[in-house]
Amino acid sequence: MASDFDDLLSANRTFSETFDGAGFDGVARAGVALVTCMDSRIDPLRMLGLSPGDAKIFRNPGGRVTPQALEALVLGVHLLRVERILIAPHTRCAMASSTLEELRERVSASAGQDASWQTFGVVTDQEAALLDDVHKVRAHPLIPESVKVGGFIYDVDTGLLDQRV
Ligand SMILES: [Zn+2]
Repeated sequence: MASDFDDLLSANRTFSETFDGAGFDGVARAGVALVTCMDSRIDPLRMLGLSPGDAKIFRNPGGRVTPQALEALVLGVHLLRVERILIAPHTRCAMASSTLEELRERVSASAGQDASWQTFGVVTDQEAALLDDVHKVRAHPLIPESVKVGGFIYDVDTGLLDQRV
């Protein structure tokens, strides 16, 4: 079947030829979970020196601790051997440098139709949002104090993580 995804499926067949993950149980082998942005400048495993299988990774626009991120972290901690959690939004993030109105205008222009009803989780103060997000994880009743939680800003121009909390 001809597909809009042929190039990617072809690359996947090549990937599969040397695939060695059969039977792996899917725990976080390095005990790490990371919440970060969907931004394509972020290479979550490589920036931490990790390999596939080492970490649970949850991504969304802005790298925010949403209810779904908390759901993922609770599962990670209790079922998938997560012991350390990194919350890592990044510099020059569109979600932290645009207003809701700006994003709606840009999407409206691209879509050629009204997008004023679409929700976007814009961040007005990235530092404050990070502190709040770390607090949400630490305060979650199902995430024990033994789990280490850190808040970091990832610099997309240097590749460095800077711990803020
Ligand atoms: Zn971003």
